[in-house]
Amino acid sequence: MHTFNLNHITRKNVKSLKPYASARDDFKDFNNTMLFLDANENPFKSEVNRYPDPYQSKVKQLLSLQRGIPVNQILLGNGSDEVLDLLFRAFCEPNIDNVITLPPTYGMYEVLANLNAVSVTKINLSKHFQPNISAIINAITPNTKLLFLCSPNNPTANSFDSLKIEKLIKNFNGIVVIDEAYIDFSSQKSWLNQLNNYPNLVITQTFSKAYGMAGIRLGIGYASAEIISVLNKIKPPYNVNQLTQQRALYQLKQEDVIKSQIDDILNERKHLTSQLHQISFIETIYPSDANFLLVKVDDANKRYKQLIDLGVVVRNRTNQEGCKNCLRFTIGTPTENNTLITTLKQI
Ligand SMILES: *Cc1c(COP(=O)(O)O)cnc(C)c1O
Repeated sequence: MHTFNLNHITRKNVKSLKPYASARDDFKDFNNTMLFLDANENPFKSEVNRYPDPYQSKVKQLLSLQRGIPVNQILLGNGSDEVLDLLFRAFCEPNIDNVITLPPTYGMYEVLANLNAVSVTKINLSKHFQPNISAIINAITPNTKLLFLCSPNNPTANSFDSLKIEKLIKNFNGIVVIDEAYIDFSSQKSWLNQLNNYPNLVITQTFSKAYGMAGIRLGIGYASAEIISVLNKIKPPYNVNQLTQQRALYQLKQEDVIKSQIDDILNERKHLTSQLHQISFIETIYPSDANFLLVKVDDANKRYKQLIDLGVVVRNRTNQEGCKNCLRFTIGTPTENNTLITTLKQI
């Protein structure tokens, strides 16, 4: 059994880093009556003349209440992509350390690894798009710092077997990142309530998918208070702007609207699946735990072009590992899905 030691895996320069001290760090109570002449802001009032709260306290407090996770175990980023990038910067030594990804999966893990000069060990998913546990465990080296598990996985749409995920968390002394971007569409439970059982677990979620706010760029990282404090230390001080914080608060308060949209999307997923079975050139519709469907067609490049010519843009995934001739359809509104179906029938 391996033991996780945060101190061992944190980069030396990060440990010794003195974080940027922002003007307002010691005066977080923005609404008080003090005169603020400390940050070189323009004094004339507008909605946005002041720097935003660097720790996004209001958004975190509401999230904490809704998800049952303490504020000090939450990190917010400019999209979950920023949270993922911070993990590389905190724990992966450039040109020395490596990470493991499980293709076909979300492309940003590899882009961020390349950007940070960290090498990627790829262990392909099985035929049924599940992690190959023994191959992953064999691939771990003393310099393996992060293991990315995207569940539900993009672009395959399925969730990983929870016993497999558990085995990986228990057999790796680096950080396991479970990317739960699509968790709100899943029949599987989130790993959030397991956070305190595993000191090496980081869970990322996003406002971009179910929560309908891709445009405001807000992502969430959940982990132990210790991991979160390392990430807080290195994050850009004002990484989440004020308009994003305001809008996120507003939308989070409308949980009912979001829940009913998710229900609609799940109903549409069922409906669209049954309709797609009638299309002659669709060979396989993979089971989906997300807000998209991966389908195998006879010739993905050809069908992709035909769809574009008729004004429908889908994602061609034919060049992804194990996804030959696969297209990815995002679930749209009922009207949009009907258009997709009639267009496919027309083709
Ligand atoms: C869409 C997506 C994200 C979201 O990234 P943001 O930067 O939060 O918009 C993260 N992970 C996966 C697997 C995704 O598909």
